[in-house]
Order: sequence, then structure tokens, then C-alpha cells
Amino acid sequence: MRADSGGAWVQGTHPAAGDTLRAMPPTMPVPPMTPESALLRIIHCLDRSRASQYKSKAFVRALDVVRTTDPGELDRRAGSGTLTDLDGIGDSTGNVIAEALAGDVPTYLLELESSSQVTVSDRARPYVDALRGDCHLHSTWSDGGAPIEQMAATAMSLGHEYMVQTDHSARLTVAHGLDEQRLSEQLDQIERMNTAFVEVGHHFRILAGMEVDILVDGSLDLSDEMLGRLDVVVASVHSKLRMEQQEMTERMLRAISSPHVDILGHCTGRMIGKRPPSDFDAGAVFAACAEFATAVEINCRPERLDPPRDLLRMAVDHGCWFTIDTDAHATGQLEWQGLGADRAAECQVPIDRILNTLPADELLAWTAA
Ligand SMILES: [Zn+2]
Ligand SMILES: [Zn+2]
Repeated sequence: MRADSGGAWVQGTHPAAGDTLRAMPPTMPVPPMTPESALLRIIHCLDRSRASQYKSKAFVRALDVVRTTDPGELDRRAGSGTLTDLDGIGDSTGNVIAEALAGDVPTYLLELESSSQVTVSDRARPYVDALRGDCHLHSTWSDGGAPIEQMAATAMSLGHEYMVQTDHSARLTVAHGLDEQRLSEQLDQIERMNTAFVEVGHHFRILAGMEVDILVDGSLDLSDEMLGRLDVVVASVHSKLRMEQQEMTERMLRAISSPHVDILGHCTGRMIGKRPPSDFDAGAVFAACAEFATAVEINCRPERLDPPRDLLRMAVDHGCWFTIDTDAHATGQLEWQGLGADRAAECQVPIDRILNTLPADELLAWTAA
């Protein structure tokens, strides 16, 4: 990805941009700071540093209060020191709001900016520099914590040229997966956003995608018609992860061989320290990925880091294609590509086999082929 000056986004003043570019981007806010921009940036930094959910929840709650409270009341309360009388505002969040209202960068945010930096290892650096986008991420449409607008603004600030919006499919009800109607609405929103980007001169695109569930029999949780409307399809196993080996292998092979599937998401489904990898014939699976040009995702989430090293090396030996994806569920997690890049470097994944080093048009040509 290209380094960017951080000024990649603009406040949405263009009429056609509408909601798309309104307010918010959780990049380091430029003055004048508002309570909202300060809180968004704090939430971003807490998420990227893997701070406790408990901690970031307090700031999410405060953000909610700020957004639903009359600005005049916030000002008055900041003046009289009664912000903490508001339900959902504590000492730390109250200080942040008061300092932001005074036009200062809150002390808490200043410290957090440096303490929460995500470091990129030396061996990961060439990979991170080569990456132009992220092919797997979620928004509030399914189980993500930020709307598409914020994910896009963050991706832009990181120097990405594109992102593939991949919310969950309908079967994953716990993650509020999208049925065809909602997916169709999301695709319309993405189209409007892309039009707005062009109008304001942003060289950034949101590609239409979905993380589609691989059902028990290996079929996909989306109709052929809708699959055909997507630019990039990530297919993942989320259910019945403990199937016996042959069944799981057949299930995965059927999905991998589907002409609609472009990327096999977090192939083993493991959660480090919590859930073992699924049992499948990895040789057969990676041979099929190579044969059907289905990329093997290197999932960056620290609790996944999937595939594990031995399988990743095996996929390299099979001549597979790869993507390095954050599977971000919050803006801060978009900064995690360095984790997967480090794993890719360690397992000697050739950079020219990584699809999201391609410009968007070439990636689209690849997935359409
Ligand atoms: Zn998943
Ligand atoms: Zn996901």
C-alpha cells in the first residue's frame, strides 16, 4: 500500500457525497477536534492495540451519548463540570469530551496514539508495502463495529486503493448475516459511495463482496444470481467445524471448485488456544485451490493466523494464490495486515502470488476469469 499523508479524506461537502463522506473518519483528526472525532479515534486506537472490549465499550457508549445529546447541553455541562452526570459518561470519557470541546487533542488520545502503534516487522515490510487493498472485512451490516463509510475512510488513510466489503451471508444468523434483499441494498450503497468517491476525486474503490458460508454439503449460502453480482467472493466454513476428515474435505472441495468462489477464508477455522483446526486433507484442498485458482487467504486476526505455518508452507508448495486479509470487524483492525504479512514472509509466500498486491482492475480481471 502507498504511504499517504493522512489527509486522504475530506469532510463531505459535496452534495452527491451525502452520507458517504459525512463526518467522522477515524484517522488522526485534524483540528478543530470534536468530541465525536476524538472518541472515534480513541476507539480505533484501542481496537488496533487489542485493548479489552470492556475498555473500548466505555468509549463506544460515550460516543453514543455525544451523538444523541444536544451540542449546547454538552458545552454547558463541560463548562460546569457536570458531563459525568450524563448516563454513560465517566471520568475518562468526560475528560476527553471536555478537552475536545476546548479545541485540544485530549491527553488520553495523545498517549494512546503512540502506545497503540501497530509495528510491522522488517521481514513483513516488503509485503505490507506491496499490498494495495484488503479483501475481507466486515461492517455494521453484519457483525462489524463500524459502518462502511468509516471502514473506507480508514482504508484510505492507510493508503489502500480498494477494499472488498465482505459481510456475512444469511445463514450466519448470530453475525446478523445478510439475506439477498439486504445484500442487494448494500450493493446499491456501495455503488453510490463509489460514485461519490469519483466525484470528490478520491482514487479509492469499494469492491462488492461477501463472506459466504460454505454449507454442510459444500454448497454456498447465496444464489448463483447474487454470487454473479459480486466482484469478489470469500467462502468460509463457520459451522460443523468438527466434521470427520473425508466429509470436511469433500465439503471444502465443492466450494473451492465453484466458479463463483475467489478466496477460501480462514481455512482451518482454528481459534488459537480455544478451538483446534478442522480436520481435512490439506494436500487435496490446496491442490484444488491451485487447480481452480481459488486463493488461500492468510487471515491476519491474531486469534486466527490461519492457515497455520505447516499448512501455509504446503499451500506455497502447491503453487496456490494468496490474499493477506485482516477480516477486520472494526476500523483499528484494518491495521493488522502486518501480522499476516509477517506470517507470509516467515513461510516464504512469494509476493507475486498475493492477489491483493494487484491494482483493483487487475484483481477484478483475475476474479472474473
Ligand atoms: Zn469468517
Ligand atoms: Zn470474516
